Amino acid sequence: MPVKFPHLFSPLTIGNVTVKNRILSTGHDTSLPRDHHVNEPLIAYHEARAKGGCGLIVAQVASVHETGLYSSHVLKATTDECIPGYRKLAEMCRAHDCRLFGQLFHPGREIMEGQDGSIVVAYAPSAVPNERFHVMPRPLTKKLIDEIVSGYGAAARRMRAAGLDGCEIVASHGYLPSQFLNPRLNRREDEYGGSFENRLRFLREVIAAIRREVGSDFVVGLRISGDEMDHDGQKPVEALEAIVTLEADGHLDYYNVIAGSSASIAGAVHIVPPMIVQTGYVAPFAATVKAKVKKPVFVAGRINQPQIAEQILASGQADMCGMTRAQICDPEMANKAQEGRSDDIRACIGCNQACIGHFHLGYSISCIQHPETGRELTYGSLKPAARRKKVLIAGGGPAGMKAAAVAAERGHDVTLYEAAERLGGQALLAQLLPGRAEFGGIVTNLSREVELAGAKVVKRTKVDRALVEREKPDAVILATGAKPHLPEMETGEDTHIVNAWQVLRDEANIGASVVVAEWRPDWIGMGLAEKLARAGCRVRLCVDGLHAGQRLPWYVRDSWNGILHKLGVEIVPYARLFGADGDTVYFQHASSGEPIVLEGVDTLVTSYGQDRVAELETELDGLDIEMHLIGDCAAPRTAEEAVLEGLKVATAL
Ligand code: SF4
Repeated sequence: MPVKFPHLFSPLTIGNVTVKNRILSTGHDTSLPRDHHVNEPLIAYHEARAKGGCGLIVAQVASVHETGLYSSHVLKATTDECIPGYRKLAEMCRAHDCRLFGQLFHPGREIMEGQDGSIVVAYAPSAVPNERFHVMPRPLTKKLIDEIVSGYGAAARRMRAAGLDGCEIVASHGYLPSQFLNPRLNRREDEYGGSFENRLRFLREVIAAIRREVGSDFVVGLRISGDEMDHDGQKPVEALEAIVTLEADGHLDYYNVIAGSSASIAGAVHIVPPMIVQTGYVAPFAATVKAKVKKPVFVAGRINQPQIAEQILASGQADMCGMTRAQICDPEMANKAQEGRSDDIRACIGCNQACIGHFHLGYSISCIQHPETGRELTYGSLKPAARRKKVLIAGGGPAGMKAAAVAAERGHDVTLYEAAERLGGQALLAQLLPGRAEFGGIVTNLSREVELAGAKVVKRTKVDRALVEREKPDAVILATGAKPHLPEMETGEDTHIVNAWQVLRDEANIGASVVVAEWRPDWIGMGLAEKLARAGCRVRLCVDGLHAGQRLPWYVRDSWNGILHKLGVEIVPYARLFGADGDTVYFQHASSGEPIVLEGVDTLVTSYGQDRVAELETELDGLDIEMHLIGDCAAPRTAEEAVLEGLKVATAL
C-alpha cells in the first residue's frame, strides 16, 4: 500500500543524525520534573510518544545557569547531576528509534516565578521591564555574560555525554539571546550593544562555546521566533538577518522556527496558539527562511494533523514539522498516520486547557481529551478486565463516552445510553461559542474511541429504574451531566431574563442592550458577549470575579479579551448579581459590597454555572448494583474533569 503521507514519512538528515520521519515533538514544559532533573514520569511521558512513532523529541528547556530558573519545575543542566536522567531518556528514545535533542536555555528577564514564592533578581542585557511578568531586570555584567556563555557550552557537553543526539539553543520567544539581538531591549553601549554585529555577539559566543565543548560532529540547532508578535519584539526582518548571518558562519545544523514572545500578553498567545489561530500559520515564515539557508528548517504552530504537516513539507515550506500538542493529545498520532489510520487520530483542538493550561497553574502536563497524558505511570497501559462485567452508562457526554471507550477496551460488555439524538452533551453547546467550533472535535474523537472499543450506543433513550432492572447490569455509571443554574435574585415582573444555553441555541429574543451576568468567569460569558456584540448589541459583561476569563487558560483568556475590547464590550469585574427590575440590573461589588447599578438594559443573560442532573441516583436507590457518578453529574465542572473521571472509573471496574 502506498504511504499516505510520503513527505512526512521520509527520513531527514540533520548534521550527522538521521531522523526516521519529519515529526517533531518540540521542547515544551511538562512540569513533570520535580527537582530540576529528568525523572521517571518525564521518561514515561516521552516514551509514549517515542513508541507512538515520533521521529525527533526535543526535551524541554534546561537552564544553563542558576540565574535562568524561570519556573519551579524547569530542568537544569548546570552540573553533572543532570547526566543520569538525560542518559535514561536517551536510551529510552534509542530503543524506539527516536532521536533526542536537548534545549539550552536562559530566559534573561523572562522569569515567570521564583523557586519559593519570593521574587528573584532577573538579568537581561539592559534594565528594560517585562510587561507580562512585571520584571525589572538588572543589566548583565561582562563577568556574568562570560559565565552564562560558558554555561551553554558546559550544558551542551553534558547532553552529549548523556548520549543525546543534539542540542538546540533557545533564542525564541524573547528569551536571553533574543533580548541581546533586539535593539529595543538591548540598550548596551559596550561590545554587546548598538550595531547588529555587537548585538549578535552574545549568540556567536554561545555557539562558539558549545562547539568548543562538543566539537563539530554533534548537532547544534537554533530555535528562533520568526515574528515575536510583540510591540517591542523581534520583527521578521530582524530574525531573518540573524539566521542568514549565522548560516554564513556555518556552525549551526538547523533552524527551528516558531512565533511569539514571552514578554508581552499579545506575544505570549503565540507560544501555544489557541484554536482561534489558523493551523500551520508559521509555515510562510519558515518558507522565507528556507529560501535563504541550506540547513534544514523546522516549523511549528498549530500543526495538529498529518494532512497539514504533509502539505507544509510537500510545498517545500519546511523540512520538519513540530506537532507537539498533536502528540500530547494522541501519542500514537505518527504510527496511526503511517498505518493509514488517520480517522483514528485524536486531533488536538487547541483548547490549551490541560497542556499549557496546567503548566501555568503549576500542575503536570495533560490533555483534556487524553487524560492518560502526564499520567503514563498510572494509566499508560490498560489492564484487561479480570472479570467481564455488564456495564450500563447513562449519559453520552464526554464523561460517559470516555468511560464507555475505556471500559469496552478493557473487555467489559458496555452499553452507553444517551437521551438526546446525538452524543456529546454540553460539548455540543460549547462548540457554538464564537471561535470555538473546533471544540466539537472532542465529540468526534470520543465517538470514534467508543466505536473502536466496541461499546454499544443507544440514543434517544433515557435511563430509568425500569430499564436498569430489565438490563440487570453489574455496574451503572451515571454521567447524566448538568443543566443551567438559575441564580437567586430579586426581580420585577417586567424584566427580560434568559439563560446562557437559550442564547447559544438561538432560542431567545435579545434586546439591543444586554447585560451578561457571569458567576464563574470562563468561556461562556466571554463567548456570549462576543456573539451578542457581533450581532450589534451593546454588551456589558459583569463577572463575579477578578476579570473576564479569570478561569481560562491564559492564552485563551488574553486573546479573547483582545477580541472583546475591539468589539467594544464593557467589562465590569467584582460584580455579584443582586437583582433586576424593569430595565435596571443591580449588582453588588464583591469586595466593597456597594451597589453597581446598570440602567437601560433590555435583556439580562445569566451564566451562573450549572446544577447537576442526578435524579437517577435517587431513583436507583435500594438496587444492589455497583454505581458510580462521574463528570457534571457528580459535581458540575468542565470537560477535562469529565473525561478524566471517565478514565478513572473505567480503569477501576
Ligand atoms: Fe490539544 Fe487541548 Fe489536549 Fe492541549 S489539552 S493537547 S490543546 S486538546
